Amino acid sequence: MELTYFVDVILPLSAPNTYTYRVPRDMVNSLVRGARVLVSFGSTKIYSAVIAKIHHKAPEHYTAKYLDAIIDSEPVITDLQMDFIFWISDYYQCYPGEVLLASLPASMRLASETIILPVFDNPDLESRLDDTEFKIYDALLQAKRMNLSEVGALLGKKQVYPHIRAMLEKGAIEIEEEVKDKYKPLIKKFLSLPVPYQSEEGINALFEQVQRAPKQADALLAFSAAMGNDFSKRIERSVLTKKYNLNAAAIKGLVDKGLLKQKEIAVDRILPNHQALDAEINLSSEQQRAFNEIKDGFAADKPTLLHGVTGSGKTEIYIKLIEECLASGQQALYLVPEIALTSQLTLRLEKYFGSKLRVYHSRFSQHERTEIWYKLIHDKDVQLIVGARSCMLMPFENLGLIIVDEEHDSSYKQQHPAPRYLARDAANYLAHLHKAKVLFGSATPSLESFRNAKQGKFAYVSLLQRFGQASLPVIEIIDLKIAQKKGQMHGDFSKALVDKIAQVLENKEQVILFQNRRGYSPRWICTTCSWIAECKNCDISLTFHKGQNAMRCHYCGYSLPAPRKCLACGSDHLKMMGFGTEKIEEDLSELFPDARIARMDHDTTRGKHAYQQLIHDFQEGNIDVLVGTQMVTKGLDFDRVALVGVLSADQMLSFPDFRAQERAFQLMTQVAGRAGRREKQGRVYIQSYQSEHWLLEAVRTGDWKKMYQMELADRQTFSYPPYCRMIKLSLKHKDQSKLEHAARYLATGLQQGFKEYVLGPEYPGVPRVKNQYIMEFIIKLQPKTNLAKAKAFIKQCSDLMLQEKEYRSVRVIVDVDPY
Ligand code: ADP
Ligand code: ZN
Ligand code: ZN
Repeated sequence: MELTYFVDVILPLSAPNTYTYRVPRDMVNSLVRGARVLVSFGSTKIYSAVIAKIHHKAPEHYTAKYLDAIIDSEPVITDLQMDFIFWISDYYQCYPGEVLLASLPASMRLASETIILPVFDNPDLESRLDDTEFKIYDALLQAKRMNLSEVGALLGKKQVYPHIRAMLEKGAIEIEEEVKDKYKPLIKKFLSLPVPYQSEEGINALFEQVQRAPKQADALLAFSAAMGNDFSKRIERSVLTKKYNLNAAAIKGLVDKGLLKQKEIAVDRILPNHQALDAEINLSSEQQRAFNEIKDGFAADKPTLLHGVTGSGKTEIYIKLIEECLASGQQALYLVPEIALTSQLTLRLEKYFGSKLRVYHSRFSQHERTEIWYKLIHDKDVQLIVGARSCMLMPFENLGLIIVDEEHDSSYKQQHPAPRYLARDAANYLAHLHKAKVLFGSATPSLESFRNAKQGKFAYVSLLQRFGQASLPVIEIIDLKIAQKKGQMHGDFSKALVDKIAQVLENKEQVILFQNRRGYSPRWICTTCSWIAECKNCDISLTFHKGQNAMRCHYCGYSLPAPRKCLACGSDHLKMMGFGTEKIEEDLSELFPDARIARMDHDTTRGKHAYQQLIHDFQEGNIDVLVGTQMVTKGLDFDRVALVGVLSADQMLSFPDFRAQERAFQLMTQVAGRAGRREKQGRVYIQSYQSEHWLLEAVRTGDWKKMYQMELADRQTFSYPPYCRMIKLSLKHKDQSKLEHAARYLATGLQQGFKEYVLGPEYPGVPRVKNQYIMEFIIKLQPKTNLAKAKAFIKQCSDLMLQEKEYRSVRVIVDVDPY
């Protein structure tokens, strides 16, 4: 008797577990784990799901439906990646489908509702389409957009998906994207020598051709100076014109004559076309020592923590390690906290790794993401992926090295939606699966990693000097109480800070100012009746955005034209409390009308390429002062920043979170680290009303030992991570009393299991968001607790509550290791 085949598949949906389907006999031979198949799910919908397991066991509680079709003959999810997906789902208490959703680009998740659009600007496309594909393409040109069911109807059902997949790969169609904030790459014009002229003789021949056009000859001369000996070098057109003060017509003339080649390239995507330069890194002796110690850590099979002060040259060490890894034929993964960070970094990395490197952004278009995905699977040349946390969910086959740079950064935690994973921790498991090495790097390691190092779970390597001639900046605390008493405040600036800025601007050097709040003012209050402008959907005050003349909610996006009078009593005595980056920028332009000031925060870098442009302009010296939120604290490496100012340390110090002090230390140390990264020592000024605070003193003196000692002691006393693990349970409902009842019900269950280690239910700092009330539990799991059992118990309790008819509509969100 022949065995019947079944497959368990993961649907890219927020639906529990895996589902079993029966395999029609004629498909049995083409089954592979990790390939996509088509299945019907629900009443009529068709999805592409991924095969997780192939077996012979019929499901117990339902009759398995047949698979509709097999899409891939080869896996699109690698074996280890699949294991990783299941681990994340298990550890972080979410569904495998949710993890799949977070990993697979949308165009690889075709479903019957998926809408496809024709691509127009793809030359000689039509000749590459087969008859069926052409038929679909033609119909699309007429209809403009079709969903896959409609394509099915066109072809007479079934066999739709293989064609669609082929058409996606050929670039004939694209998937309609729901995301509005579509990433638009920054396009720049580059000039290079046409291939036949790429030699000494070639250049001479060119010069002969422009003998009678002096302007063009000048331009060519400038180009050849910029090019140096690298005949295939590409030079950015605007850089050339600016640097040599060339006229645009001359360059255009050269391009028109075919003497220079001009190409428009998206800056992100320069990489694939670019050759690695034979750049050598010579590590300093300190760097070499650190490098050796890291290798020792690896040899002892330990995750390794590189504690290297800002500007110590961690990146160079990473590059050396990656080189070794790639040379041994293995892949490497380089994680950075935010996409934002990558633009400066990738330019550095590209020099060494050329086309072996791919940057992966979640903001890339589906098309680009899909392309990189396939490259990683099929093209053995692509070996290094750089990007933010979601990169770890890509189809790696044999990782040799994972680097988690700026490992303390909280953006390694995905807050919403599930999977709520912490990439720093998950990296350990990913490394374990691949038997890879893992390196955590930071100037301000997290307390968790620091303690792991102290206990010997991690190898610890320190690098406490800046590279080269650079020394760490001098940090001073400015006491705002005194400044205020003496009447020395200009708005939110102390006179001391203003004077220092003036000096730096005089010297034609640059300034970075940090204020961890965007908008103009976070709060408007009526001095007559105490009314505060609040969001109607959330329990939080609205932030005034002067540029838009609007009050906006930073939680739900609700906005309101800025009122002229109090909306409660009609008084016009409205007062602004607190200040954000927008106000700093305005105050500054009044204080320094001639300075070129730019702002970098969520509002000025939305979508598109604003961020890269800002970095570029600052680097090129077109900006004197950069004002920003925590975006300016991260990883940036500029030559001429002489001064860094922190406008207010107070809000950071008093933030209601047990990690507040740790974060304040990290933020201030990191932003200070942007100053004086070359020969000249930088200066940092921190304004505060609590100038005697021990933490500010620790920041000032760079006394991280004190910070770790104080903080660890506190965490131990009050039992917080790293001395325990936490699980946060959030309940949400629009009906407050129902929510409270549900929470009380759940509390009873949880308390039976966890006793005094359950905190809550309590309302969080913002108790209502988007019209949903929120109550939270924190469960503190002691070191000896069996984690799996604890999670199972929590699940059991919440399932029990959800089985009660009146609580069924309450949403329960589990967050393991909240961060
Ligand atoms: P970190 O990441 O530790 O803050 P970076 O890696 O950005 O420091 O290094 C600071 C600066 O020093 C960078 O501009 C980098 O190019 C330079 N640098 C570091 N190490 C070397 C080296 N071995 N050779 C040349 N330049 C180096
Ligand atoms: Zn009022
Ligand atoms: Zn709101």
